[in-house]
Amino acid sequence: SLTIGIVGLPNVGKSTMFNALTKNDVLAANYPFATIEPNVGVVGVPDPRLAELAGIFSSQKVLPATVDFVDIAGIVRGASEGEGLGNKFLANIRESDAICQVIRAFKDENVVHVDGKVSPKDDIETINTELILADLQTIEKVLPRLQKESRIKKDVAPKVKAVEAAKEILEKGDTLFSQGIVQGSGKEELLHDLHLLTTKPFLYVFNVDEDELTDEDFKNEQRALVAPAEAIFLNAKLEADLAELDEDEALELLQSVGQEEPGLATLAHVGFNTLGLQTYLTAGPKETRAWTIKKGATAPEAAGVIHTDFQKGFIKAEVISFADLVETGSVAEARSAGKARMEGKDYVMQDGDVVEFRFNV
Ligand code: GDP
Repeated sequence: SLTIGIVGLPNVGKSTMFNALTKNDVLAANYPFATIEPNVGVVGVPDPRLAELAGIFSSQKVLPATVDFVDIAGIVRGASEGEGLGNKFLANIRESDAICQVIRAFKDENVVHVDGKVSPKDDIETINTELILADLQTIEKVLPRLQKESRIKKDVAPKVKAVEAAKEILEKGDTLFSQGIVQGSGKEELLHDLHLLTTKPFLYVFNVDEDELTDEDFKNEQRALVAPAEAIFLNAKLEADLAELDEDEALELLQSVGQEEPGLATLAHVGFNTLGLQTYLTAGPKETRAWTIKKGATAPEAAGVIHTDFQKGFIKAEVISFADLVETGSVAEARSAGKARMEGKDYVMQDGDVVEFRFNV
């Protein structure tokens, strides 16, 4: 499944946040695999449509879409040179689909900062420098061979050009992501087999003091630092507290600090979008469930997420949009109102499609 790697300097609140992430009883019960790996947290993506569907179908269970977060042990200055946990760290990042940097913005004299002062800008630079240096090392290993090869094989020339262009960006101190060269886009294709770290989508979590949660000037400053990446603001200690409370108490605590939803819920939403994902829905008396697919996935691909046999034996999909289903009130009503469509194998799924697949076994 798709995973987001969490990285950050020591003492920025990564463990605190990660522990809050994994303390989700509903998910732990429904997704037993969530607890197999100690450094993996499965987070449900909040989706109010699910409760509404569950009402229509009288479903016993509701299963939200999920995003997997992997806690990647502390990065330090010199990680790209193999300092500290260097090599294992880099291998872990390589396996993630996106990189989430946790940045300390909270002030607390009792919590030592590794570099002696709290400076989001410096910390981001420290982390990005390590990732950039690691990519430069990768490129320096393969470029001479590619250049040699392109003298014999003309079709290697575009790749050499792409690698040289990437090198130039990295040497300026920029990540490839910041220049639009990101995995899953056409701009990254020629570099793909190099598994460069900075071509992964980035997102940033700022661990802030409670009063900064509502400080728009402060937040805009941080957003400018990390654009085009998304920035999320939360207080890790508050998130840990929220994870211990029931829904009503949690809501009350959130309102007292001017927030509508837990920072971790925002993180799940943003992570989901950063990965280019969307959901479709299935519903019945047993369960209402959101399934995760890539934007642009076809109906058979979507069926394959439930079971590979569904994809192989795909015949057609009966699709009702969430809005139409809510408006008509039931599948039967939607059908007689002509709102239930039979879609074939070329149908491109839309976010919020409520689907029943027909297939051969
Ligand atoms: P990690 O090394 O990045 O995993 O950081 P930890 O989660 O272990 O946190 C380091 C220290 O900072 C611990 O003593 C935490 O209690 C404290 N800490 C974490 N988040 C916050 C926060 O939002 N505010 C304050 N004041 N302290 C925090």
